[in-house]
Amino acid sequence: MSTLEGHCLCGNVTYSVDDGTEPLMTVVCHCTVCQHQTGGPFSVNVVVPETAFHLNGDTVGEYVTTSEETQTPVQRKFCTTCGSPIVAILHAMPGIVAIKAGTLSDTSGVQPTAEIWARSKQPWVETNDDLGVFATGLPAS
Ligand SMILES: [Zn+2]
Ligand SMILES: [Zn+2]
Repeated sequence: MSTLEGHCLCGNVTYSVDDGTEPLMTVVCHCTVCQHQTGGPFSVNVVVPETAFHLNGDTVGEYVTTSEETQTPVQRKFCTTCGSPIVAILHAMPGIVAIKAGTLSDTSGVQPTAEIWARSKQPWVETNDDLGVFATGLPAS
């Protein structure tokens, strides 16, 4: 995979991931919080180690959600100028960040590996049953 880097819609917020870092997983999330945050039917999250992720820009805002679905707090960073969601930091999974895949400069390498919160998915969205599809969150590993 090429270097992972990206930006918000207006370009004020940029990020990069250290060269040679492969995503730990790429998760499609159908939860209602992601639906509200993205304005779309689901979010696509490229998960990388937090230590390899570098966020830049002076318009980074943060909003913490604790939903009925996720139970534990999720820190959501976004651009306060244009509103693009950039990453989610899950307190339940320390040490990782979940990059919102649509903000990547090059999305050609994005390949989902699991789908979660399928019980909340829109009825017209088809899951890819070749992946792990979970009614709720990822099973504890
Ligand atoms: Zn922006
Ligand atoms: Zn979600």
